[in-house]
Amino acid sequence: MVGTRVRVPFGRREVIAVVIQGTAESALTDKQLKPALEYLETEPVLPDTLFRALIWASEYYQHPVGDVFATAIPKLLRSGAPTLEIREVWRATVAPDPDQLTALRRAPKQQQLHAFIESNGQVSAAQIKQAGYSLSLARQLEHKQLVERAEITAVDSVSLAQTNKPGSAPLRLNSSQQDAVDVINASSEFHCYLLDGVTGSGKTEVYMQAMAKVLDAGAQCLLLVPEIGLTPQNLSRFESRFSCPIVTLHSGMTDRERLRAWRIARSGEAGIVIGTRSAIFTPLASPGLIVIDEEHDSSFKQQDGLRYSARDFGIKRAQLESMPIVLGSATPSLESLNNAIAGRFTHLKLTARAGNASKPRLILSDISASQLDEGISQELLIKIDKHLQQGNQVLLFINRRGFAPVLQCLQCGWASECTNCNARLTVHAKPPVLRCHHCEARAPIPRACPDCQSRNLATLGAGTQKLEAFLKARFTKTPVLRIDRDSTRGKRAFQALFDRINQGESCLLLGTQMLAKGHHFPDVTLVAVLDADIGLFSPDFRGQEHMAQTIVQTAGRAGRAEKPGEVIIQTRHSQHPALVNLVNASYEDYARDLLKERAQSKMPPFAHLALLRIESTFPDRGFNFARDCLTQANALQTDFAAIELIGPLPAPLEKKAGRHRFQLYIKCGSRPILLRYLQQFTQALERVKSPAQTRWSLDVDPLDLI
Ligand code: ADP
Ligand code: ZN
Ligand code: ZN
Repeated sequence: MVGTRVRVPFGRREVIAVVIQGTAESALTDKQLKPALEYLETEPVLPDTLFRALIWASEYYQHPVGDVFATAIPKLLRSGAPTLEIREVWRATVAPDPDQLTALRRAPKQQQLHAFIESNGQVSAAQIKQAGYSLSLARQLEHKQLVERAEITAVDSVSLAQTNKPGSAPLRLNSSQQDAVDVINASSEFHCYLLDGVTGSGKTEVYMQAMAKVLDAGAQCLLLVPEIGLTPQNLSRFESRFSCPIVTLHSGMTDRERLRAWRIARSGEAGIVIGTRSAIFTPLASPGLIVIDEEHDSSFKQQDGLRYSARDFGIKRAQLESMPIVLGSATPSLESLNNAIAGRFTHLKLTARAGNASKPRLILSDISASQLDEGISQELLIKIDKHLQQGNQVLLFINRRGFAPVLQCLQCGWASECTNCNARLTVHAKPPVLRCHHCEARAPIPRACPDCQSRNLATLGAGTQKLEAFLKARFTKTPVLRIDRDSTRGKRAFQALFDRINQGESCLLLGTQMLAKGHHFPDVTLVAVLDADIGLFSPDFRGQEHMAQTIVQTAGRAGRAEKPGEVIIQTRHSQHPALVNLVNASYEDYARDLLKERAQSKMPPFAHLALLRIESTFPDRGFNFARDCLTQANALQTDFAAIELIGPLPAPLEKKAGRHRFQLYIKCGSRPILLRYLQQFTQALERVKSPAQTRWSLDVDPLDLI
């Protein structure tokens, strides 16, 4: 039956497969056809609607359907684990021998256990032990045929027993929040909502109250967040509000934990599923609502294998499963904003902060003529001092981890470079080592220049570690907390830092992108973006969009509670129209301007893009193959005049992890035409033999072109 798993012979191996289609006849001979070895179940693994969404993904992303299913279902299911948990239970026999029952009077312990099992209907071995009985006692009852063992399929409900806990009361919504909730709850049909709410406007409260209605109607909610480990407080807000079982799905879980959460979601027992990107594939018995928080976040796009966007897949899924979907952000992606402007999504706006907090003021600080200490102007240092003196917290944002971005020889100009990538090696201080942020390469820090043997080596620029050292020396009385991928490696490390911040003592927070993500820091009153120019001149067409999102999100950490906030943005280009616009107008005005530019240059969302990526260990093989691909593409072009081809070109990061990379851009104003073209193009490519150690992959709707 379609959608069920079968064990099939595959070459010399046996693999678990999912039945995609049935057919009564085949042109193949009986010898060519092989029978399946085993049917693993009689019910489909996934609901039909989700099954169809995966078939859609396979066609849309031009990705092998088997690999789509492998990405979408838990690993243990691919090695044959049952979709339902099988548990052994003990229960009383239906027609026990009356003599044996009477005889129990002489064995009071056995009698008690029998009564325990009978009154509970069915109990697990663990419950028997928990109640103070031994299993050998149970076996004695089994021998007398008073109790029996049975295997039942059920989800593991042990830790779901939290259902009777009273939830914390919902907040009184302000009128724009109330409007948003009402609009979302107005219909249970498919519709897309863009919840465009400034940072601190109370989007989470809107999600929660919209979900409450869905749960009341007996349906389930799926909430996608960028990174669960980074927003534990968000999770606890849901846990304390709702009494229904909530399961989470994220990369930090073991395969068993994932399977368990998946089963509870699939059975309908979980009211709410909260997870990161791949949780969008979680089956729901009664789908009611999808919410994608921080919908602009790049983590929703998978960057290898099946290069899907969880947001776009979520929309398709909501459509096939007939439920509403809410995309929330303070800085919506240009795609979503454009959909809202065009009327395809309903645009819900929260323009004010919730509660008493007011919006922070953004100030551009031109540092082109300033004397800088590790990238910080004297003016800013004085400001930091002032805020700290007042007992507040200060947050400094720099998107560069490590000690310094490069080690250089002051004598001959040599710079530390990765041998596997076209990139510089970052200097790390603890432990002292050179590290490549694009591959795993590490190298010891040389004492002398490898080219001229001079000992005159210096680190150029500053990363979080260097700034941490500088700030500790400069503000000796203030704790400096560094938050980046290196300082939060341990499982509990981020939580510990976070708890410390929330105790409210005056401190300096210093960190990367991680700090920009949805946290609520009530005591931060000053936020400084140390270098806004990194994004301003990015080669990527989304560079300015991402820069603005980062600045606005980081700025959004300031003044979230009673205390007003101030935001300083350091730049060498304080007259740059994009920055001026961002600071003086709103994110939306700024984004509308970017949309105009995209319309003029015919870039997404006004055209659709696919990227053929070619990688090879050898540069010439890679490039020649890329040219062969272009020949294939050109051959199709007679039927597809609307397709524009650009390239092949070396990727912006031409060499990464020892592979030379080339790109061919495929652009088209029409999505259906592009899809048809890509179908034929991939078929053509599959017929071309690629040289050894050279491979291609297709990225539909690429996020960054690096
Ligand atoms: P966002 O996700 O939009 O950045 P949050 O949902 O984190 O904002 O809300 C910011 C703060 O405002 C939280 O502390 C939240 O409890 C509070 N808040 C939200 N809605 C209300 C409301 N209606 N009244 C008072 N406080 C609210
Ligand atoms: Zn040198
Ligand atoms: Zn490298």
